[in-house]
Amino acid sequence: MKRITILSGKGGTGKTTLSSNLAVLLSKKNKIVTADCDADAPNLALALGLLEKDFSLWEKVQTNERAVLDEKRCNGCKKCLDVCNFGAIKWDDKKNKPIFNSFLCEGCGSCMLVCPNKAIKLIRISNGKIGIAKTKYDFSIVSGQLKVGTTGSGKIVSLIKEKAELLGKKEKAEIILIDSAAGIGCPVIASIQGSDFIIAITEPTPSGLNDLKRALRTVEHFRIPYGIVINKFDLNKNFSRKIESFTKKYKIPLLGKIPYNKKFVEALVNLKPIVTESEKYKGLFEKIIKRIEISGFT
Ligand code: SF4
Ligand code: SF4
Repeated sequence: MKRITILSGKGGTGKTTLSSNLAVLLSKKNKIVTADCDADAPNLALALGLLEKDFSLWEKVQTNERAVLDEKRCNGCKKCLDVCNFGAIKWDDKKNKPIFNSFLCEGCGSCMLVCPNKAIKLIRISNGKIGIAKTKYDFSIVSGQLKVGTTGSGKIVSLIKEKAELLGKKEKAEIILIDSAAGIGCPVIASIQGSDFIIAITEPTPSGLNDLKRALRTVEHFRIPYGIVINKFDLNKNFSRKIESFTKKYKIPLLGKIPYNKKFVEALVNLKPIVTESEKYKGLFEKIIKRIEISGFT
C-alpha cells in the first residue's frame, strides 16, 4: 500500500478540491481508501458528496486528558499554581483551592506531579469522533472531527490514519490518499509521517509561497519525495512565475497548474468533484497524476 498526502502551508488553497478530484481519478485505476486528516475543518467527505448522516458509524475518541481536583485532599499549598504553562489554573481565594479551566488544560500532568497530597488526577475526555463511509465513487473514506473548543488534533490524525490503514488492508487498497491538516503544526506532522509522496498545493501570493516553503521544510525533515501544484495560477501570473522559478531552482517537480474558474465553486456547491463534470478538468488532473508517477511514485 502506498500513501500520498496532500498538504498546503495554509488553509483555503484548494487542498480538498485537489484531494477529491485526484481520489476520483485514482480510484478508476487503483483500489484506494481516502483519509480526511483535517480534523479541525474536515471537508473531504462533503466535496465527495457525503453528508454526516451517510457515515455508517461515528466512533467517539478520547485522545486527551484533563486535570481534575479532589477538593478533600487539597490543603491549599499552591504548588500546582506555579507549574501550569497553559494558564489553566486560577486560585479561588474563598475556598483557598485551585480552579482548573478544562478548556485551557492540555493534560500535561505537571500539576499532578508536584501536588504533595495526590489531590489532582487526569481524566480522559471525549474530544472528537471518527467515522467511515463509502463514497458513490466506490471507495471508502475515513474522516475525523475535533470537538469545538478541544485540542489534540495531532492524536486524532494518528487515529484516523490507523483506521485508514486497517480499512486499506481489509479492502486490499493499493493507495491511501490523505488530505492533511493545513499549516505546519502537530496535525500536519502526524498527517505526513509514513507518506510515500507529498503533493504540496499553493497559490500565487507572497503568503502562499512563504507558507509553502515552511511546509516543505517539514516535509524535507522526513525525507519524503514531493511535488508542487499551483492553484489559481492565472490570478497572479507574475507571482506564479516566481513559484515556478523556485521549483526550477530547487529541482522540485511542478506537478500542475490549476486555473481559477467559477466552475470549481459550482462543483463544490453541488458536492461533485469537477472531474466528474468536465472533460477539460479531468484531463488537467490526469496530467497531475501522470507527473506524480514520473516523479518517482509508483
Ligand atoms: S495538567 Fe498541565 S495543563 Fe492541565 S492544569 Fe495541570 S499543569 Fe496545567
Ligand atoms: S498542589 Fe495539590 S494540595 Fe497543593 S494546592 Fe494544588 S491541588 Fe491543592
